[in-house]
Formats: sequence, C-alpha cells, structure tokens
Amino acid sequence: MTDEARLFEIFLDIQRGLPRQGPGCAEATREALALCGELPDGLTVLDVGCGPGMQTMTLAETLDAALGRPIAALDMHGEYLTQLQASSAARGLGERIAPLQGDMAALPFADGSFDLIWSEGAAYIMGFAEAFAAWRPLLRAGGCVAVTELTWLVAEPPEEAARFFAEEYPAMTDVATNLASLQAAGYEVLGHFTLPDAAWWTDYYSPLEAKLPALRARYAEDAAARDFVAASQREIEMRRRYPDSYGYVFFVGRKTD
Ligand code: SAM
Repeated sequence: MTDEARLFEIFLDIQRGLPRQGPGCAEATREALALCGELPDGLTVLDVGCGPGMQTMTLAETLDAALGRPIAALDMHGEYLTQLQASSAARGLGERIAPLQGDMAALPFADGSFDLIWSEGAAYIMGFAEAFAAWRPLLRAGGCVAVTELTWLVAEPPEEAARFFAEEYPAMTDVATNLASLQAAGYEVLGHFTLPDAAWWTDYYSPLEAKLPALRARYAEDAAARDFVAASQREIEMRRRYPDSYGYVFFVGRKTD
C-alpha cells in the first residue's frame, strides 16, 4: 500500500460509521428544499457526494410521491453507499434512493437530466464556483441547486481560526462572495441561511469526538495516524472556540435561461 493509500485508510477509519460525514440536519435540508418553491411532478433529483446520505433520506421522505424516479445518490466511496443502502432500507426508503459510485467531476448523466441537484458539504471538493458551473448543464430549464459550504460569517475572523482555515481550507470565503459565484455561474439566488450550531454536533462532531479515545489507543504506535486523530480533535476545538466566526451555509439557486 502506498503512503497516500495508507493515510486515506486511516482517514476512512476515523470517519467510519458516523451518521453524517459533515455538518447538517434534517430541518436545514427541509428549509432549503422549501426555498426551491413549487417543484414539478415526476421530479428528478441528484445528490452529489451523498456520503451516508442522511440528507438523501430526508429528501426522499419529504418529496415522496413527487419523485419521478429514485434519487440518484452519488459518492466516490462505496462504503458510504453501503451504509446508505442499509439505513434507507431500514427506514423503508430503499425504493426511493438509487446509490451510485462515481466521481462528481465526471458525472455520468445526460444534459437536462435533473430538476434538482443537491450537495451538502461536498461541492468544495471541485471548488464551490466550479461545481455550480459544471453541474448547470445537467439541470432542466428552471431547475434548482442547493449546496452547503463552509463560509466565514464575520469580516475579521479571530486570528487562530483564520490561521487554522488558511491551512485546512484556504478557499474558504464569505457569504457575499459565494452568492456572487452562484449568480456568476448562471443561477438566480433563491435564498441562503446558516445552519444551526447543533447541526455541527448532533450527527457529526459529537459522534466523531466519542470515537477519538479508541482511535488514539488503536494508533498509539503510528505517528502519522496519531497526527490525523489530533487534527480531528483540533478541528472540533476550533468549532468550540469560534462558533460565531464561521458556519455551514446553505445556498439555493435556480438555473436562469
Ligand atoms: N453529503 C454528505 C453528508 O453531508 O454527510 C457527505 C459530505 S462529506 C464532507 C463529502 C463527501 O464527498 C464524502 O462522502 C466523500 O466520499 C465524497 N467525495 C469526495 N470526493 C468525491 C468525488 N470526487 N466524487 C464524488 N464524491 C466524492
């Protein structure tokens, strides 16, 4: 195994089994969906970077009979899709979700395939602005996008937070810049809002933090893995210290002609 593959395995181990792979909550998913307004019958939906798919299941439950076909739930990592398959079957939603392994940068769909493209905490992988532009052709006329993005909420973040994210996510910017990117990519802004602080903890940081002691023990002899575990703890501490300085923000837009 290459060093890169080994580090990736450690990353997967840290993240394994969490209900979500990033901040989010069902209330926010539903609020963003409401911003899309009236949606056509026979609705077609793509969830990009769905991970274990908590938001996919909320969409499936909420849209229910309006769905024209199962929600295409795409992720690079098969393990998350297996988790989604099990949890959606347990919730009686298996028929409404079609998991698909693939790369968001090379989506295997024809232009105009979807009324709605969803992506919670995953657009950053391509780049926030780049993702909006790349996915636009896949939307039908009048189709919507809804994306969450890690965003600065204050003009002058505390120095420690600024330093941390300069390392961890240098592309992070503010709400106004993200709204401008959405418009520049050919969308009318339907709305945006910041996720509540609980969306960071209930299904993400709290279960992640609970795993860290066992991971420290497992990797006691492995310096690289220990660094990874320490990085997760630092990220969580940053959130504890500076919850008002940055947040996950939902951005919702409609494709313009
Ligand atoms: N939306 C999920 C959630 O909120 O729980 C997952 C968010 S997680 C921060 C980002 C997801 O993107 C992961 O599930 C990861 O496997 C997936 N991912 C990473 N690179 C990808 C790629 N190139 N194509 C598709 N999915 C990718």
